Amino acid sequence: MKTPERGTTVLVVGLGRSGRAAARFLLARGCDVLATDRLPLERLDREVRALAAAGVTLACGGHDPQPFERAETIVVSPGVPLDLAPLAAARARGVPVVSEIDLVADQVRGRAILVTGSNGKSTTTALVATMLQADGRDAVACGNYGLPVVDATRGDDGRRWYAIELSSFQLESVGPLGAAAAVLLNVQPDHLDRHGSFERYLEIKCRIAALRAAGAPLVLGLDDPALARAADGLAPPVIGVGATRPLDDGGRLEDGMLVVTIAGTRTPLVRRDEFPLPGRHNVVNALAAATASLAAGVRVEAVRDALRAFRPLPHRMCPIAQVEGVTYVDDSKATNVASTLAAIEAFSGEHRAGLIVLLGGRSKAADFSPLAAALERSGARAIAFGEAGPEIAGALAAAGTAVLGVERSMTAAVDAARRHAHRGDIVLLSPACASFDEFANFEERGRRFAEHVRSASEARP
Ligand code: ADP
Repeated sequence: MKTPERGTTVLVVGLGRSGRAAARFLLARGCDVLATDRLPLERLDREVRALAAAGVTLACGGHDPQPFERAETIVVSPGVPLDLAPLAAARARGVPVVSEIDLVADQVRGRAILVTGSNGKSTTTALVATMLQADGRDAVACGNYGLPVVDATRGDDGRRWYAIELSSFQLESVGPLGAAAAVLLNVQPDHLDRHGSFERYLEIKCRIAALRAAGAPLVLGLDDPALARAADGLAPPVIGVGATRPLDDGGRLEDGMLVVTIAGTRTPLVRRDEFPLPGRHNVVNALAAATASLAAGVRVEAVRDALRAFRPLPHRMCPIAQVEGVTYVDDSKATNVASTLAAIEAFSGEHRAGLIVLLGGRSKAADFSPLAAALERSGARAIAFGEAGPEIAGALAAAGTAVLGVERSMTAAVDAARRHAHRGDIVLLSPACASFDEFANFEERGRRFAEHVRSASEARP
């Protein structure tokens, strides 16, 4: 879409991070900006008041139909359900309903690499940005990664590259972006509370294919069975990546080496042990980032440098402390079952230590039973905690695995793990749940974990 002109009346629905960024951006362009949020003003970020002072007309604490009726364009935030009645009515009247990212689609066209998936998005987005930077380009990781894309474009002299992480919520509303490459890592059950069914969720994730420029590749994670099945139905070019699948073209692990083959040209990248992140899933993330970057013209040597120098992002399988010979690992970002399965597999495959996994938090209507088989296979033990603790313990027991205990809180689970752990063991916080029963977000959960582990170690004689 075209960026709204000066004087256009634009309504921003939802005043979270990206909605606020959109409102600021539109004000700066001289648009007449209206904004609405279902929450009352006092429960919104303080910045919202500053926006009002700067000229945004607010209607908070519900969705008054009036601003929807005045708007010539509507920018909808990722958290807002698209079937909201006044939104549906506006769309029926022909009013464009777009995402914050669409506002700068013209600016990022041709210089964007898009990343989505149920798990691994942030890691892969950071890998792509690191590869672009290693190639000497001005590049920024943005989107669902944290920085709104409209903010990321500020000061762009026409040469900046964008590694854009897209959530399924963003994919529901974003239009074509003319991306140089797109990555779809995996589609595992998550957010089914919003999307209704797995089929619908898969369909939304596959929309990333339509955001590419003509001829730009879609890099697809083929270890994921749903994507392996979907591959044939997606518009070419599609390049598969997988840790194990034998592929003629695409990225894979060959005799301990990460190798990418594009159009018959085979490019060995680095040895597996030169890339510092654990787990097979991170091999897929690395291969996907490398394939997309090479397709965007990044030099092979820059890809290699980035892979060797990359470090895990905070709260993603990060070792945080060793206390009395026990290693504590923060994987607080594992908010669904699939990411916890990946972590259990990574730690049991690569280390021969005993593993104690801390599982719990707020359940997202997930099926926890697959964790039982993974724990059994790897000889790992589990402690359940928080609001979902009893549910998890019950699901595991029904699948034949007893937990070591059910604790009320995350910190109580750490204390229990310490009592059970022996020298050489790993205690892994990889909860398979959201954090909101005890914490503001997964970052706070991870920070509290690290603080608790460290303070307990200092309290020792
Ligand atoms: P996202 O941004 O999609 O949430 P992250 O890179 O932040 O992805 O990783 C989220 C969690 O998923 C972490 O616990 C990480 O270890 C795990 N993970 C990363 N990549 C994958 C993958 N390809 N498959 C399964 N789990 C993964």
